[in-house]
Amino acid sequence: MDDKRDWLRKLPSVDRLLSHKRVQNLIKDYSHRLVVEAIRAELESARRGILAKQKLDISESAVLDRVIYGLGMSFQASLRPVINATGVIIHTNLGRAPLSKAAQAAMIAVAGAYNTLEYDLEEGERGSRLVHAAKLLRALTGAEDAIVLNNNAAALILILSGLASGREVIISRGQLVEIGGGFRIPAIMQESGATLVEVGTTNRTRIEDFEAVVNEQTAMLLRVHASNFRQLGFVEQPSLRQLAACARQRGVLAVDDLGSGTLIDTREFGLAYEPTIQDSVSAGFDLICFSGDKLLGGPQAGIIVGKAELIARLKRHPLARAMRVDKLTYAALIATLQHYLGDVAMQQVPIWRMIARPLKEIGTTAERWAAQIGGKVVDGRSTVGGGSLPGTDLPTRLLAIPAAFPARFVAGLRQADPPVIARVAKSDVLLDPRTVLPEQEADLLRVLSGLAVDEDR
Ligand SMILES: *Cc1c(COP(=O)(O)O)cnc(C)c1O
Repeated sequence: MDDKRDWLRKLPSVDRLLSHKRVQNLIKDYSHRLVVEAIRAELESARRGILAKQKLDISESAVLDRVIYGLGMSFQASLRPVINATGVIIHTNLGRAPLSKAAQAAMIAVAGAYNTLEYDLEEGERGSRLVHAAKLLRALTGAEDAIVLNNNAAALILILSGLASGREVIISRGQLVEIGGGFRIPAIMQESGATLVEVGTTNRTRIEDFEAVVNEQTAMLLRVHASNFRQLGFVEQPSLRQLAACARQRGVLAVDDLGSGTLIDTREFGLAYEPTIQDSVSAGFDLICFSGDKLLGGPQAGIIVGKAELIARLKRHPLARAMRVDKLTYAALIATLQHYLGDVAMQQVPIWRMIARPLKEIGTTAERWAAQIGGKVVDGRSTVGGGSLPGTDLPTRLLAIPAAFPARFVAGLRQADPPVIARVAKSDVLLDPRTVLPEQEADLLRVLSGLAVDEDR
C-alpha cells in the first residue's frame, strides 16, 4: 500500500507537465484546453494503473510521450495519402483513381480563389454550373448533352426518379446486380418509385424477352453493366443495338448504366473488352451513366450523357440540385477530360499510365528495389479493380520480400509514414511497382529499408 502511495506521489503534476517545452508546441497544434484534458486523462489512467499494480514508466518524458501519441491518434487526419503497392489499379478502398498533375493543379487553382462556377464572363451575370464539362463530354462521346453529379449511384437514381417514377423499368435478370457497399439495383429502383420488371433468366436474356413485356406503363429498358463479376458458359444478353432499337420502336427509353465508363478500348492492353461510352452512344441509347473515378481516371463523379431533351429534364429535377458537384470536382474533371481531347490520356492520366506500363519497365523497377532492399523479383498479376474488368488482369513483376511474420511486416508498413499497403502470399510480402506513383518511390524505399533491417519482421 505504501509502495503504491509512493508511486502515486511520484506522478508528475499537470502544471509541471504543462511547463514542459514539448507541451508548448502541442498547445499550438491542439489548443490549451485539449492538451490539459489529454494530460489529465493520461495521469488518471496512470493512477489507475498504479492502483492495479501495473508496471508503468511514470517519468515526465514517458507520460508526455503517451500524451503526444494519444493526441496524434485522436486528431491526426484520418484521410491521408498512402502508397498503393497492391497492384490493384482502381482500388476502391484507396480512393479509386489518383488524379493527373493537371487535374491536381486545376483543383488548387480554383480552390483558393473566386472563380466562374456560376458566373458568365461574357454577359457579366449569373451563369449555370451545369455548363461545365458539358462541351468536352459532347465532343468526346458524341452525345448531345451531359450533366455531372456526385457519383454514378446518384446519376442512376436521378434517371430513375426523374424519368421512370410510377412506371415500369425492364431489366434482364442477369443484370440485377449489387455494385458494392449495399448498392443494389432492385433497392435503387424501389427508392426511385419505379416498378422493376425482370425478364429472362440469370444466364440468358433475349431481346424477345423485353419485347414481350413492353406496355404502356413501360418507361425504359435498363441495361446495367456487369462491372464486378463475369458470367461464363451458356450466357446471352441482347446486343446494345438490339436494346436501343427495341426501345425506339416501342417509344420507350433505353438507358445504359455503364459503371466504369471508359473512353479508351481496353483490348489494346491485352485486357478483356470493356464497353466504351462511345459504343453505347452510337448504339442509340437515350441516356448513359458512368463514374468519373473508375476507368475515366478522374474525380469522384457520376456523369450522364445522352439526348439533350432528357438531360434538360434531369437538370430541372429537384434531386439534381441535391446531387450537384462542387468547383473542385468540375476543375479536376475538366482537366481529366482535356487529356482525352488532346489524345494524351495514356501519358497523363495515372490509371492509364499504369495500365499501359510495359512489363519490362515494371521489372526494371522491381529489380532496382530488390537491389536496395533485398528480396527477389517474381512474376505476378496486377488487376484493374474498381468494379472494372473482373476476371482479367495484367502480367506484372513483383518484389517478394520473405518475412518470418508477414502479417506483422505488412502491419508495420501500414503504420509507416506514409503508410504502405502491400499484399501477402504465404511467407512473402509482395510489392507491385505498377501502382506505385513515381514520386512515391523514394518514400517507399525509405519505409522499406527502415522495416527490412528490423530483425523480427
Ligand atoms: C461502380 C458502379 C456504379 C456506382 O458508381 P459510383 O460512382 O461508385 O457511385 C453503378 N453502376 C455500375 C454498373 C457500376 O459499376
